[in-house]
Amino acid sequence: MKVIVDPEKCLGCGVCEADCPDVFQLGDDAIAKVLLDPVPDKYRDDVMQAVEDCPEEAISVQD
Ligand code: SF4
Repeated sequence: MKVIVDPEKCLGCGVCEADCPDVFQLGDDAIAKVLLDPVPDKYRDDVMQAVEDCPEEAISVQD
């Protein structure tokens, strides 16, 4: 799957990184980056948790 963070929406709160640190990492610009493309399916549950937890709805997933 492909995971995208909208940099216009991201506030840099770090919740996604806490949910799934293998996939999300805050950059020096305090915007979350997606580390893997494509993201392996084993991370799906953790990524979907991050989608749910993101306060800005900045994370989207494409299969
Ligand atoms: S949870 Fe959302 S707002 Fe917070 S760092 Fe991740 S993408 Fe950005």
